[in-house]
Amino acid sequence: MEGHWIEVADRVLVRRYAELDLSVGLVLGDGGCLVIDTRGDERQGAELAAEVRRITLDPWTVVLTHAHFDHSFGTRPFMECPVWAHEDCRADLVADGAETKEAWARRYREQGRPDMAADVEKTEIVLPDRLVTDRAEVTAGGRRAVLSYLGRGHSRCDLVIAVPDAGVVFAGDLVENGAPPAYADAFPLEWPDTLGGLLGLAGDAVVVPGHGDPVDRAFVTAQHAEIEAVAGLCREVAAGRMSREEAVRRSPYPEDTTLTALDRLGG
Ligand SMILES: [Zn+2]
Repeated sequence: MEGHWIEVADRVLVRRYAELDLSVGLVLGDGGCLVIDTRGDERQGAELAAEVRRITLDPWTVVLTHAHFDHSFGTRPFMECPVWAHEDCRADLVADGAETKEAWARRYREQGRPDMAADVEKTEIVLPDRLVTDRAEVTAGGRRAVLSYLGRGHSRCDLVIAVPDAGVVFAGDLVENGAPPAYADAFPLEWPDTLGGLLGLAGDAVVVPGHGDPVDRAFVTAQHAEIEAVAGLCREVAAGRMSREEAVRRSPYPEDTTLTALDRLGG
């Protein structure tokens, strides 16, 4: 078995995968359901679609938390259906999709995983057709989900999906459990405010990260403090008041994570 479901609240499920420690969501209504993220290629997306179909035959709506391939490239097997995302998610998939496919195919080959390289290479990227600027509400089988864009953070298009009746918030990669947050496409100085917005929106809800097991408010609060600390170090280095080495030494995160954050300054 490639993944396994956990039920985090009434008819709100998370499917966990060993590959990249990924978490995707499923919200079940009466006569409709919401699939949150679609995995990293068409074969992986087909596996997810088949597993959702073992649970419900209701029509589905897809929501993408952001444009990174591991969350958004598996959409094709769900078509035809509405696909929601932030407007910049669509723009990033248009601008970077083909290049990302090539880069990951190369990486998988270097890792000795030719099957995965072929899977990502032959994947047809599906562009979202329901675009969110700040906020949107989606109803699936009578169940309401609120899609919010709270600002730039892990990427420029992170969408937060709240399911108010269940007390669950899907955070995408704005929150990461089990590994340091990923800064490669991040906005280190803005991430703290965006995550603060998520904390305000989430209250005591269960928070589902894009990678790792679901977490609680205390976890997100602690991660917020760490991301704020990294932002502070970035500011000091940018102002010429601290060396990169000193920032690495003081950072709550490993050297490569901190250096990636520093490299993003002005990005
Ligand atoms: Zn990501």
